Amino acid sequence: MTTFADLGLSDPILKAVTDKGYTNPSPIQEKAIPSVMEGKDVLAAAQTGTGKTAGFTLPILHRLTEKTKRVDRRAVRTLILTPTRELASQIKKNIEDYSVHLDMTSLVVFGGVKINPQISKLKQGVDILVATPGRLLDLCQQRACDLSQLEILVLDEADRMLDMGFINDIKKIMKYVPQKRQTLLFSATFSNEIKTIAKQFLNNPVLVEVAAQNTTAERVEQRAYKCDQASKPELAIHLIQQGNWDQVLIFTKTKHGANRLSDRLQKAGITSSAIHGNKSQGARERALQGFKDKTVRVLCATDIAARGIDIAHLPHVINYELPNVPADYVHRIGRTGRAGQSGEALSLVCNNERAFLVQIEKLISQKIPMHTEEGYEPDLWPDRMPSAAEVTKADARRKQEARQQRGPRRPSNNGRGGGGGGGGGKPNSKTDSPASRRRSSTRRRRS
Ligand code: AMP
Repeated sequence: MTTFADLGLSDPILKAVTDKGYTNPSPIQEKAIPSVMEGKDVLAAAQTGTGKTAGFTLPILHRLTEKTKRVDRRAVRTLILTPTRELASQIKKNIEDYSVHLDMTSLVVFGGVKINPQISKLKQGVDILVATPGRLLDLCQQRACDLSQLEILVLDEADRMLDMGFINDIKKIMKYVPQKRQTLLFSATFSNEIKTIAKQFLNNPVLVEVAAQNTTAERVEQRAYKCDQASKPELAIHLIQQGNWDQVLIFTKTKHGANRLSDRLQKAGITSSAIHGNKSQGARERALQGFKDKTVRVLCATDIAARGIDIAHLPHVINYELPNVPADYVHRIGRTGRAGQSGEALSLVCNNERAFLVQIEKLISQKIPMHTEEGYEPDLWPDRMPSAAEVTKADARRKQEARQQRGPRRPSNNGRGGGGGGGGGKPNSKTDSPASRRRSSTRRRRS
């Protein structure tokens, strides 16, 4: 069996890996580390939970310590772009752990917090910068971040960055980055769009694949429960209590849904928090911390907020509602069964979601066993299932009717026109996604 020492990593890095308690490299690490150390571009198909963060961080640290330092102290040497704040914070934490015996500086920057402290830290010089695209572009445009001497660029969770509409920001960021560099791209799924990006940004990359494309984490046991939408809160409570589960991540489709379910669980005596883009950064971090240290049993999350959450050995994931984008299912259940541990992923499926389940099964080339829990059998489960198009159409109609009933939107007081937070005219948007930024600027224009 290959060891970390066999991979040729330097002693301070090997010591940090031992400190972390890792005994052997995971398959992605075994495959990616040598190529990254040789300075090659890498295109890696790897889902979260496979150890991919160490897969790129360890060899990057090795290379940065091997090569001479940059001419300008303030120029960034390695940039890691990632879709969400949570993921960015986690990567930064990993870098700190792995570089504990090295003289290496790192910084994380993302939106939703003040920009000025980030500008001050960048002035002091940073070797490795972890960033979400929106805030980084802001910093580049304000000339607060020097990427002109960048040696290594990592596009982490590239598929999710594209899903979140970051492609234009990324393209703009690339204008600040030198042509001659090493580029690594990690993605759980390989769509045509990802392939196009890879062609554009990578140079003759080494292809690294550990699991077949679009497959779910191997050691996750998957199950679905047929039920009515209305009985989902009770069924979720029943499953958590019956299994005596102490750490459950539940995915809901909407932010309000996450809040509502969290309140419902609290009332049933199950400690719970919600995490989503409408929560302040502080509230999100508190919720995540409570969940990690197990003072909170259940975390109700939307897809974007939960993206990249890394909790060692998270045993249970519940899809309270199925995602309409099948690849999201792969990401969701990737929260469990990490680094060789086993996990359980349950999906509560009502009649309207049956077609989404079929799409997911097609994507993962696997049948998800369907169960019926006694006392929670669905009233509505006709032989003919509604098609995905029918459901989407009905949803849109319902939303339209609700909008009409609500009447025209009243101007909101918090659309103050954006000058306030020292953000150089950009709103402190609740999520960093361009779509969300667009929405908030439309709101401001309306008011
Ligand atoms: P990642 O896929 O990078 O999010 O990593 C998932 C989890 O696996 C994290 O909790 C890491 O700390 C852990 N991990 C990474 N590499 C190893 C390894 N070689 N042995 C054991 N655990 C690891």
